[in-house]
Amino acid sequence: MSNQLILVTGAGGFIGGSFVASLRKAGHSRIRAVDVKPLEHWYQRFDDLENLVLDLNAKDNCEVAVKGAADIYNLAANMGGMGFIENNKALCMLSVLINTHMLMAARKYSVERYFYSSSACVYNGELQHTSDDGDRFTAPALKEADAYPALAEDGYGWEKLFSERMCRHYMEDFDLYARVARFHNVYGPWGTWFGGREKAPAAICRKVIEAKLSGKHEIEIWGTGHQTRSFMYIDDCVKGIEMIMNSKIIEPINLGSSEAVSINQLVDIVEDIAGIRLERKYKLDAPKGVNGRNSDNTLIQKYLGWEPSIPLRDGLEKTYAWILEQYKLRERGAEGVVREIDFTNHE
Ligand code: NAD
Repeated sequence: MSNQLILVTGAGGFIGGSFVASLRKAGHSRIRAVDVKPLEHWYQRFDDLENLVLDLNAKDNCEVAVKGAADIYNLAANMGGMGFIENNKALCMLSVLINTHMLMAARKYSVERYFYSSSACVYNGELQHTSDDGDRFTAPALKEADAYPALAEDGYGWEKLFSERMCRHYMEDFDLYARVARFHNVYGPWGTWFGGREKAPAAICRKVIEAKLSGKHEIEIWGTGHQTRSFMYIDDCVKGIEMIMNSKIIEPINLGSSEAVSINQLVDIVEDIAGIRLERKYKLDAPKGVNGRNSDNTLIQKYLGWEPSIPLRDGLEKTYAWILEQYKLRERGAEGVVREIDFTNHE
């Protein structure tokens, strides 16, 4: 196990927290975890690591975070589900400051390897206005070249696309070894599940739990429920980040599941897990994003001989069980309990 310092930004969030947990479990002891949130709000925190609270929009703070690190995993961004990114475009675009200042600091301190978390939201929207097959929109498998000509998701997607190119040019012009993965919807335990930033799988688990526990057997679904997406379980995401960082891939690459489902199918699965059927109320004016999207995994298969493959049903069972536990704790008055778990024994 290398003794070099690894920096993970956004470590108080969903993917960053799970990634730090995985590095630590693998035996890495020199990990610097950084997030803007106060420590008590971090989703996962390990007190035997170096935990820093820094606003990485500021260049000086990026230098503090980066100094001494050999590898950087930049997972910090202002982000959320469709409701959040459609209503906070400026805030999402301001994350450009984080990646730009992180790259500048990485160059200054001659960092060896840099990982940037991009998103499937960089893809050209016109390719995703697909037709409705009756009960779901077709879900085109987007290959990496489909990001151009550029027509990214307004706000969040444009920021990601710009930041991808910053990584590319820092590599071409300044020899900074950058890796860029385009994540497609990630879900799992330790993710945001209430408050407005949660994504579809967590929101649906929570709504099904609410309906089941309250006895009011209804669920609100945003749009017609025909929108299609693929959802990657967090363990696949964490594994993919490591594999991509350790590879020689120098172009942005998809990191996502290729198992596309409609939102209605997602609800079907969660209802099955909960052992309940709900009356569906469709909120047609709610933010719903593009019609259909899937991940084309030809390139990741070519380079790594691997792709995310944890079945959606398996991942949702674990996610549902975790949200149910959090929900019950919260109902018993442990406000924001997701942040109040005793982490000392957490593996
Ligand atoms: P998250 O919101 O749970 O985590 C992001 C973390 O970044 C948060 O803890 C937040 O406090 C931190 N952060 C925001 N601004 C900061 C700042 N100025 N300084 C320091 N920290 C700051 O989100 P996540 O799901 O863990 O996403 C991680 C990365 O993956 C992000 O770059 C996101 O855009 C990308 N991504 C996620 C998904 C997904 O489905 N979750 C999909 C595509 C891309």
